[in-house]
Amino acid sequence: MALEERRRIVTLAGAALDALRRDMRGEVFTPGDAEYDSARQAWNLHARQSPAVIALVADVADVRTAVRFAGANGLPVAIMRTGHGVVAPCNGGLLLLTERLQGVEVDPATGIARIAAGALWSDVLAISLPHGLVPLVGSTPYVGAVGYALGGGMGWLARKHGMATDSVRAFDIVTADGELRHVTAETEPALFWAVRGGGGNFGIVTALECQLYKVDSLYGGNLFYPIEQAPAVLPAYGEWVKTLPEEFTTAVLMLRLPAMPGIPPQIAGQTLCVVRGLYDGEAAMGEALLRPMRAAAELVFDAFGPMPASELEKIASDPIDPMPVASWTETLRDLDAATARTLIELMESAPDAPFFAIEARHMGGSMAIQAPLRASAFSLRDASFVLFTYGLLADPALEPAFTRYFAELATALRPYTTGALYYNFLSDMDTTPERGRATHTPAYRRRLDAIKAVYDPANMFRYNPNIAPGDAEDAGDAGDERGAPRFA
Ligand SMILES: Cc1cc2nc3c(=O)[nH]c(=O)nc-3n(C[C@H](O)[C@H](O)[C@H](O)COP(=O)(O)OP(=O)(O)OC[C@H]3O[C@@H](n4cnc5c(N)ncnc54)[C@H](O)[C@@H]3O)c2cc1C
Repeated sequence: MALEERRRIVTLAGAALDALRRDMRGEVFTPGDAEYDSARQAWNLHARQSPAVIALVADVADVRTAVRFAGANGLPVAIMRTGHGVVAPCNGGLLLLTERLQGVEVDPATGIARIAAGALWSDVLAISLPHGLVPLVGSTPYVGAVGYALGGGMGWLARKHGMATDSVRAFDIVTADGELRHVTAETEPALFWAVRGGGGNFGIVTALECQLYKVDSLYGGNLFYPIEQAPAVLPAYGEWVKTLPEEFTTAVLMLRLPAMPGIPPQIAGQTLCVVRGLYDGEAAMGEALLRPMRAAAELVFDAFGPMPASELEKIASDPIDPMPVASWTETLRDLDAATARTLIELMESAPDAPFFAIEARHMGGSMAIQAPLRASAFSLRDASFVLFTYGLLADPALEPAFTRYFAELATALRPYTTGALYYNFLSDMDTTPERGRATHTPAYRRRLDAIKAVYDPANMFRYNPNIAPGDAEDAGDAGDERGAPRFA
């Protein structure tokens, strides 16, 4: 920990902290408190952080109190719900935990949900599914709905309904001045635009309202092939997705699975090539659309079929319990034969982790539309495939191997990547200011910097792919946010 950060911890141990404890309904922990270690722990056990103070807020008033305290004491603020997305660990700042801000309400008539910052997508699904409504949840429902949606939010209905952030209609946010603002496209268009795609850079969202969607029949799951079939499957997949309607959202993976209970015996302990996804429509049409991939190569296990919305999480079967994960992201121009060959070579040289994946998620469809209503700071609209590589750091000795591997991967893929990056897939092992900036086009970035300068001039919310307060370029002029951004 840097000297300045240590000094902050020591200086804080006085009257100011007593006042914070007194003024908050929730709890405050500092190093040495029994709860400090478990409170600072992120879901990703690799992302270790040493905050000067932890505020486990109980309500919105607590959020305001904690932010004012941080402002008065010169503390930067990190926001955490589950810790699936700790990109910049909170060392020396105030770590604000949102888990007690609970509450989900669904209006079945409009399909609008109001979701408090502490809710996971699983909490939303528990309320929405009985009404036949689903949110734009991603591969796991055990992430914070708010954090996921602010960073973009790419799920199995994304080609049909767009990024989750496109479906956000309003939010309440506590900004760096400690004020609570209700933000819509009408009330504060610049902030409404920036937070949807700019993540936690502008304040603490205490609740958001978003559109949910009716689903009737779903056809989803996985086709598992032996890894030897990857040279046939990957290019076939690259061609196949070009024929798909936007109701079909898919991904292709090369995946090394451990042999452990809970994994189907047909695939446990094996390295596989996988095509997975979800078709929002009748099974017969889903089956017909999938036929080319069923025929592309010999299958080890066919786990694609009709499925209820309550089983969406089974498509990816992401791990639920906290674990140390190493990950890296890129954006591919295409999935042609040359790209496929490079990905296969990268799979062959992957670190020796018991669980490892190279995944390419197919974009396009509604994700590509920057329609007036949707205009947001999410700027990865023209990508074809987002690549996400991740592995289990089962042994700390694997960390240097992963660091080396990610650098090699970035170099090997350079001819095939766009240079743009997906905000939600950055990680604590994949973070430099340059890569943070690559989450938005330069024009979007200038606009974000300018809005940041208005709402967070001291860069209080910096534990992110950071948007630094830049030259204030037209931040207050929000007249165009409901149309295509004028600066694009
Ligand atoms: C196993 C796994 C699967 C994933 N699958 C997908 C997927 O399918 N699609 C996808 O798009 N992403 C996916 N992600 C990425 C995930 O959506 C992001 O990591 C997201 O940020 C998690 O939100 P969280 O609040 O749970 O995480 P946290 O680590 O608690 O928060 C991450 C960041 O979100 C911001 N944030 C959180 N809460 C608030 C708030 N109330 N106000 C303002 N900012 C806030 C902060 O900047 C914070 O640093 C996945 C990640 C993992 C590890």
